[in-house]
Amino acid sequence: MKDLVFLTYSEIKKKLNENSLTSFDLVTAYLERIQSVDSKVKAFLNLNADKILNQAKESDERRKSGKILSEFDGIPIGIKDNICIRGEITSCSSKILENFESPYDATVVSKLKEKGFILFPRLNMDEFAMGSSTENSAFQTSKNPFDTERIPGGSSGGSAAAVAASMLPISLGSDTGGSIRQPASLCGIWGLKPTYGRVSRYGLVAYASSLDQIGPFSNDMEGINDLLEILAGLDTKDQTTAKVTNFEAKSVSDLEWKGKKIGVMKTDEFNFSPDVNTRYLEILKDLESKGATLVPLDFSLLKYAIPVYYLIATAECSSNLSRFDGIRYGLRKESTGKLDDLYSESRSAGFGKEVKRRILLGTFSLSSGYYDAYYGKAQKARVLIRKQYADFFKSVDVILQPTSPTTAFKVGEKTKDPIQMYQADILTTSVNLAGVPAISCPAGLDQNGLPIGIQLTTSHFDETKLLGFASALSKLDLCKISLPKEIK
Ligand code: GLN
Repeated sequence: MKDLVFLTYSEIKKKLNENSLTSFDLVTAYLERIQSVDSKVKAFLNLNADKILNQAKESDERRKSGKILSEFDGIPIGIKDNICIRGEITSCSSKILENFESPYDATVVSKLKEKGFILFPRLNMDEFAMGSSTENSAFQTSKNPFDTERIPGGSSGGSAAAVAASMLPISLGSDTGGSIRQPASLCGIWGLKPTYGRVSRYGLVAYASSLDQIGPFSNDMEGINDLLEILAGLDTKDQTTAKVTNFEAKSVSDLEWKGKKIGVMKTDEFNFSPDVNTRYLEILKDLESKGATLVPLDFSLLKYAIPVYYLIATAECSSNLSRFDGIRYGLRKESTGKLDDLYSESRSAGFGKEVKRRILLGTFSLSSGYYDAYYGKAQKARVLIRKQYADFFKSVDVILQPTSPTTAFKVGEKTKDPIQMYQADILTTSVNLAGVPAISCPAGLDQNGLPIGIQLTTSHFDETKLLGFASALSKLDLCKISLPKEIK
């Protein structure tokens, strides 16, 4: 039973559909694994084992009576704590929402329920998805399963760590500036940020609405392909979802490298750690030997990605988080009984340091007098970055970069210096600013045994091509990785 947790997503799907595995046995094995390793990894905020086991029993009943909801019926999936599930606490790892019970399901959650997935809610995250290490959670810091003295990345650190520690095969996260791809990279798994507008944001607690997207983590590519098919599509409850044809997992096949043009970076312009740099160059060489043409791209605009992202994201977050006023949702403090005091005391007690920093930054850049100089300028620069990607895709099929400039750093290493923490997003934020899709794929280990990740990017709504390249990349010997069985 114990070994069931080391199955890949595709093996699980196959076994369930062949009736050689029950959802109950599988879920029991995962719950035991969580029991034995999550005290070290700290991916889950809490877990209602009975409720989860009941869902598994119901799924097995459906299978027995030939009434499965879909081929995914009975597959367990983890949910980040900023995605609403009716009747569950959705805290965003914030004290201000510590007791907030969601009154409705996010669209992605309704879709998963309709297919019969077994939901494991409440994966830890940076508070309101602001961070790159999960150290900004108000409740606990998640750890990297490859080395528990290190961070798993963020903000979806709990979702990534749960899959990397074999506590689940797949999970959902959200990505505003890299929060799916960076933790996927640091934890040695696959993580996809879909094209902006591909997946409904209804029921995702908003951080920066023009950048946020929900996406999947998986321990293999099939999990990514299937989940994108399930999650994607127009939603009348989210006016930013796009009216394009839905994505079909079966449209993905391994692409040939021969004759393909791959956009690459000149690595000397960026401060990659030596192991990340070496692996990136080795992979490029391998692809060239398979017949791909490498096209060096001018990424000089990338140096504006961090400032532009942090101006736009903080401006939007200051507006989105104004709803947490102590009246409508969550924590309320009312010592003096005056309205203004109620607002400020509730918000002072409920929000953590990083969230406050960003609300201040955003409010400042939106204030009259500074709006044009900061927010307005950032919006103009965003247009240039978007245009730059459109130009890139006139000459290349796919862009290949490291996902993160380094492998997982130590807990506490960057917490004193927010700017250094923001630099962890140098390669991911521009993708959200442009709205294009990107995936992080495992690319082997560094000398300390820590995972390296490679980010692939294609043009808007070209996920079929993106995942075809990702699948081909994942077959390279250089990219092979095994997840840790023992968590130390
Ligand atoms: N690390 C980035 C930030 O703190 C990205 C977070 C995210 O994608 N949610 O904003």
